[in-house]
Amino acid sequence: MSYDVAIIGGGPAGLSAALALGRMRRRVFLCDSGRRRNARAVEIHNFVTRDGTPPEEFRRIARAELEAYPNVTVRDVQIDRIAGSQGSFALTSGEETLRARRILLCAGMVDEMLPIEGFKELWGHAIFQCPYCHGWEVKERTWGYLLRAENLGHFLPFVLQLRGLARDVCVFQEAEFELPAEAVATLRGAGVRIFESPVLRLVGKDEQLEAVLLADGTRVPCEIFYAHPPQKQVSLVASLGLELDESGFVRVDPMTRETSRPGIYAAGDLTTRMQGAIIAAASAMQASAVLNVDVTAELLREGALPTDTGDR
Ligand SMILES: Cc1cc2nc3c(=O)[nH]c(=O)nc-3n(C[C@H](O)[C@H](O)[C@H](O)COP(=O)(O)OP(=O)(O)OC[C@H]3O[C@@H](n4cnc5c(N)ncnc54)[C@H](O)[C@@H]3O)c2cc1C
Repeated sequence: MSYDVAIIGGGPAGLSAALALGRMRRRVFLCDSGRRRNARAVEIHNFVTRDGTPPEEFRRIARAELEAYPNVTVRDVQIDRIAGSQGSFALTSGEETLRARRILLCAGMVDEMLPIEGFKELWGHAIFQCPYCHGWEVKERTWGYLLRAENLGHFLPFVLQLRGLARDVCVFQEAEFELPAEAVATLRGAGVRIFESPVLRLVGKDEQLEAVLLADGTRVPCEIFYAHPPQKQVSLVASLGLELDESGFVRVDPMTRETSRPGIYAAGDLTTRMQGAIIAAASAMQASAVLNVDVTAELLREGALPTDTGDR
């Protein structure tokens, strides 16, 4: 089977792209392997009209909307390999191969769990990445932030904003390292407590955090924890040899969202540290508009543009 655009990943980005391209009458293949990034989240917040919607319900509504477009094929499969080049990519899923003129990568990122006891179990329940996603629901409690060496360059504004919602904010360290004196003064001035001894264990029960245990034996009562664990690209994206930025995100042209490989575009979490469902959906809409223009021009050149609605 041959498609105009194959979209890899059926999260907010991929679903948004499938809708945009479907409505422009492109022949679209949308696939999803099911391992969504917010799998632990109970509700999606901060997506206008969908605030508080469970992630599975979000995907169900989006897929139901796509049913209006017979030119969009949705499949729950994983793509294992992409070969070929612009105009004729070959995608392999198990024994099956399909062809597409262009590829849009919306495969998200993989969060790597930190080797701190309790971290994996509490991730998504009491440990969050972003107060815009999960903050209001747990406001006016004691919150912690885990400072990691790689976050030193941009942690200060992140922590200061937590003060707007929490009763008490504590900064904990993954390892022992020296904090910039200016940052320490700013945080202390804002009433933030700083603990230098590294975090040993997150103590919790029934998916709730109770305290943070430090290497020096201190036990700090704490209910909510924010952390940015390392992320990596999914293996399919890693296998494509695309240019990445210094943080490991796929580098795209800011206007067209084309990657370093002609014909392969990318949108959503895999391209940015600024991660959120509505941001992912918007970036995919942007990519779709460029893809549509590009593919339509190609179909016109080939005299292959559909002339009536019955053919797709
Ligand atoms: C715990 C948690 C809670 C969050 N809560 C919120 C929130 O409340 N509000 C908010 O705005 N954001 C929230 N986020 C962030 C939000 O989930 C992401 O920004 C958003 O899901 C990114 O969308 P995406 O489409 O780029 O990627 P994803 O949603 O991760 O979707 C990518 C999809 O690609 C699929 N895929 C990967 N590889 C392949 C392959 N080879 N073949 C086929 N399919 C593949 C995966 O199975 C996955 O379903 C949360 C994140 C986490 C970790």
